[in-house]
Amino acid sequence: MGESPTVVWFRRDLRLADHPALLDAAAAGPVVCLWVADPGILGRRHHDAPARLRFLRAGLEALDAELRERGCRLVVRGGDPARVLPAVAAECGATRVRWTREISPLGRARDERVAAALAAAGVDAAAMPGDLVAEPEDLPGSSGEGYLVFTPFSRVWMETPLPAHRPAPDRLGGPELASDGFGALPAGDPLIPAGPAAAREALVAFIRDGAADRYAAGRDMVAEPGTSRLSPYLRFGMVTGAQIGRALGLPGEISKGRLAFWRQVCWREFYHHHLLRHPEVARAALKPALRSIRWDHDPALLAAWRDGRTGYPFVDAGMRQLAAEGWVHNRARMVVASFLVKDLLIDWRVGETVFMQGLLDGDPANNNGGWQWTAGTGTDAAPYFRVFNPVLQGKRFDPDGAYVRRWVPELRDVPASRIHEPWRMSAEEQRAAGCVLGTDYPHPVVDHAERREEVLARYRAAGDTVA
Ligand SMILES: Cc1cc2nc3c(=O)[nH]c(=O)nc-3n(C[C@H](O)[C@H](O)[C@H](O)COP(=O)(O)OP(=O)(O)OC[C@H]3O[C@@H](n4cnc5c(N)ncnc54)[C@H](O)[C@@H]3O)c2cc1C
Repeated sequence: MGESPTVVWFRRDLRLADHPALLDAAAAGPVVCLWVADPGILGRRHHDAPARLRFLRAGLEALDAELRERGCRLVVRGGDPARVLPAVAAECGATRVRWTREISPLGRARDERVAAALAAAGVDAAAMPGDLVAEPEDLPGSSGEGYLVFTPFSRVWMETPLPAHRPAPDRLGGPELASDGFGALPAGDPLIPAGPAAAREALVAFIRDGAADRYAAGRDMVAEPGTSRLSPYLRFGMVTGAQIGRALGLPGEISKGRLAFWRQVCWREFYHHHLLRHPEVARAALKPALRSIRWDHDPALLAAWRDGRTGYPFVDAGMRQLAAEGWVHNRARMVVASFLVKDLLIDWRVGETVFMQGLLDGDPANNNGGWQWTAGTGTDAAPYFRVFNPVLQGKRFDPDGAYVRRWVPELRDVPASRIHEPWRMSAEEQRAAGCVLGTDYPHPVVDHAERREEVLARYRAAGDTVA
């Protein structure tokens, strides 16, 4: 074992097992585990996200606790990583730095700057895999543009062998360095427990309690606990896709429900591969013809949407769940996103930012993918003229209105037949339900049928190629 330590720079890989960069470092000798509070990232509007930052901080504390059990601890420094990394390497005499590869354009640009600064200082720096089940370069047929459509991607991805399990190192030792503290990261209890142990518990419960086996049938029913809610843990690498795959029983025969769930994990990989191949989507529509859609700038409508006061109960329930839980059911995400873009005619990038600021799982690849999919500007094979009807979606995926009643309590006593369209209640029905429209709950802020025609006209006008 050499005496010179390796610095492991943690970012969104807050775990010790199945961590190639950490294992590489530990195999070479002493380690320094580092996290950097980077104002260049934390200062961006997408990261003005107190709930997610609290979750991140709790995740770092959990990581630190796991490191301490192994004789090491997490060093936290603040500043530009291109300055901090060489300084830390010099301070502890490290000649190597390792980190887990990043996909987002912002993260990649940062990593290139850090790698250049380390190279100039004579430090050997390398990015390692670990976040994804399959690295984009390893997937057959994914060169150049990569896969633009999910189904062919998923066929190839499903055949990819799972990386073998690599346990956390038993002991980790290295020089002791001072920490700056968490700086801009807010303290306080996160909305859900953070860290790899909490992630493992959620994963095990999801499989043990049968939800994974029931997933195909239950995943779209918004009031049911039919999905795993693992997304915040995946976002910060507290669990990995490969760990999920092995826990499901892969490789091997698994139930239809588990397979459907695994297919959703595949969507995450699809959007990550996509963002790597098409970094331009972080700023603009993937489809060039849809880059010139005329959007409205209407602060009042935007505020009604964000605050869950559009008068469309399913939309309002979704936005209120976001505010309360920092998480929204996927079906509700699709409906609220479609409503912003196609009913309020507001640019999908505005919604993308609101989601990034509110979600615990706010993730550049998945969020951008979800918004562009819903706006019809992205990878989806379905046409742009699919417009979700918030009433029909509600009736189908929240038939008795339990989801709406939970998040929009002023509609609690509205009969199931009216819960997704309360404006159909007579004045007498409104009084009986204790919900007078315009007083207790808003009238619809727009007319869905009218807005549908308007948005389709605007998409058509944006370019002949869209038809
Ligand atoms: C407009 C919009 C924005 C979204 N923003 C994000 C985001 O910022 N971060 C995020 O992780 N997901 C995002 N999603 C995808 C999806 O809604 C969430 O991943 C899912 O709801 C998380 O809940 P879960 O962990 O219970 O999912 P499960 O159904 O249990 O799925 C397991 C995992 O698979 C992945 N997954 C599932 N569905 C999708 C999907 N459609 N796209 C990509 N990955 C998926 C997630 O990592 C998820 O944790 C967005 C979807 C839409 C429509």
